[in-house]
Amino acid sequence: VKEPTHLIVFDLDGTLLDGHGAGHQAMERAFGAVLGMPGDFDRLDFAGRTDPAMLRLAAERVGVSLAPDDWPRLWAAFVDALKETVGSTGALPGVRALLDALKANPRVGLAVGTGNIEAGADLKLRAAGLDGIFDVGGYGSDGESREEMLAVALARGRAFFEAPGALALTVGDTPRDVAAAHYHRVPCIAVATGHYTAAELSAAAADAVLPSLADRSAFYRAVEAVSGRPIVD
Ligand SMILES: [Mg+2]
Repeated sequence: VKEPTHLIVFDLDGTLLDGHGAGHQAMERAFGAVLGMPGDFDRLDFAGRTDPAMLRLAAERVGVSLAPDDWPRLWAAFVDALKETVGSTGALPGVRALLDALKANPRVGLAVGTGNIEAGADLKLRAAGLDGIFDVGGYGSDGESREEMLAVALARGRAFFEAPGALALTVGDTPRDVAAAHYHRVPCIAVATGHYTAAELSAAAADAVLPSLADRSAFYRAVEAVSGRPIVD
């Protein structure tokens, strides 16, 4: 295990990969299969929300309050459906090369911080060819709010790398990602590869904004700018 100076927590959808609606479709199917009626996922703003938060919202909009024993059935149906829809998922440009470089960098510990439940995140990472990169993370299955999820990601990352003093930062694609990072007093590098423009992410107070993760040097400069310490010489 390395002793990194930096813990970098990556969001998945819109940041590392594009699921082309795989998760959304799987969620609609699971809802119908378990509850026997369609949920209202129309114009539901998925960006930056956790999977449990989206299911609860879709249920509330059709007047259904989910019972405790609905949840395990919903997740089982969701994972089954996602296995069928996830094939459309792909890594965003430059992501695999950047993650390989970061994984090999002794100054960097990598973690996932995503609203996907853990089983869903694993399926999406594998479909995008990004498996084998992350050893640790926080997921929608760890907390319904992005803030709760990120608390788990940060704690697990620091524990896994035995680096309690590592400079933490997050990389995400939505104003909710920025807000959750700032809630934990952690900077957020925002990438405009999801549903938000660079201008919108700047307006949401992202600490740095990049058009994408395709330019590795630009990413390294952003990490140094937001953390005050370089990860490459
Ligand atoms: Mg995202």
